[in-house]
Amino acid sequence: MPEQQGSRLQQLDAAHHLHPFTDSQALHRKGARVIDRGEGVYLWDADGNRILDGMAGLWCVNLGYGREELIQAAERQLRQLPYYNLFFQTTHPRATELAATLAGLLPGDMQHVFFTGSGSECNDTVVRMVRHYWAVQGRPERKVIISRHNAYHGSTLAGASLGGMKPMHAQGGLPLPDIVHIDQPYHFGEGQGQDPHAFGLERARQLERKILELGPERVAAFIAEPIQGAGGVIIPPDSYWPEIQRICRQYDILLVVDEVICGFGRTGHWFACEHYGLEPDLMCMAKGITSGYMPLGAVAVGPRVAGGLIDGGEFFHGFTYSGHPVACAVALANIAVMRDEKIVERVHTDTGPYLQQRWASLADHPLVGETRGLGLVAALELVADKSDNRRFPGERGAGVICREHCFGLGLVMRAVGDTMIISPPLVISRAEIDELVDKARRALDLTYQTLN
Ligand code: PLP
Repeated sequence: MPEQQGSRLQQLDAAHHLHPFTDSQALHRKGARVIDRGEGVYLWDADGNRILDGMAGLWCVNLGYGREELIQAAERQLRQLPYYNLFFQTTHPRATELAATLAGLLPGDMQHVFFTGSGSECNDTVVRMVRHYWAVQGRPERKVIISRHNAYHGSTLAGASLGGMKPMHAQGGLPLPDIVHIDQPYHFGEGQGQDPHAFGLERARQLERKILELGPERVAAFIAEPIQGAGGVIIPPDSYWPEIQRICRQYDILLVVDEVICGFGRTGHWFACEHYGLEPDLMCMAKGITSGYMPLGAVAVGPRVAGGLIDGGEFFHGFTYSGHPVACAVALANIAVMRDEKIVERVHTDTGPYLQQRWASLADHPLVGETRGLGLVAALELVADKSDNRRFPGERGAGVICREHCFGLGLVMRAVGDTMIISPPLVISRAEIDELVDKARRALDLTYQTLN
């Protein structure tokens, strides 16, 4: 794309486009970064710069850019049936085929799915489904859903309410009633000096204390991401999840696992539930289900809730684009490629361990207080002083400085405060992992120079 075209787009953009999760004043000062095309794990911006996409778009482009199989599946479906809906006892072949295909992949004995258009819509669906389920059981007072501070479950009213992002709650008077939050299992950020095992148990037992405080008869469900993504790739200590599962069972609380980021191979399993041995009642999927080529979400429903919903007659809920045929066709092609190319196995045994080993080598850098990761998702913590993991004062903007150096070097790495995170396409090769980690180290060096 000629450079002139890039700046023309920036002008039009500044004049007419309100962006999601963007400081509009900063945008007006600098202009939007215009991403023009992608191939494999690389993006090209409007100035022709090649950038390694260390975030797979927004954690979703798992098969990388430009996959013909997905493009052709979309084209075929657009010709055959570009749209039909799933309301009023209707289906179309791709939705039914995808539901059956997913049933073969889901953890435990989950056999049903409800389609949506996004991860946020999955979480809105969860709130309605969970409350409807308990009402059908004759327990309408079981309404409260417990989530966690610093969780991310989307941007709709229910998604943002289930999420634990304070700045989101502050805009618009959230959370909605009967959604409450407990602390997160963030050992580096909130458990320094404590034994990780004991910290994990302590954080899990907050759930039990909250259930007892509210009264178990009022609590409908607990929802969480297996690994918090947008919160900063927070990997709970191993003691955390088994204790959560125990508590949910003991108090008969539904367990809802949000696999919007973790699902479809990110952790080296089809779903992170397999890594943690979780048996959820409901599970949210989106993003990697189509490798981000089309918007699609799905809530997997275990036998207990599915039985309740079936007994409950009509569930007055659904979206025009629930299970859009083109999105379902792309999801089917995406899953077929993942199976044919053994992508999940590759992440589990090859590229995942390789990335983690290379990523851990960054721990010797003077700015790095901790590295962590699983499969093809990882984080590192920027610190001012490694001896006691003291952070930089927030106003120094260490994370943003590091992110900008990454961009300058041709790497997308995201900053969550001073936590740097990556989640590259699952098709990334060992050579591309080397490039990613080498660029990350150079960005850390430049960040160190800027800050000192
Ligand atoms: N749940 C999780 C765990 C997410 O990370 C996200 C998005 O990042 C969502 C839900 C919301 O998904 P969407 O942006 O498709 O609505």
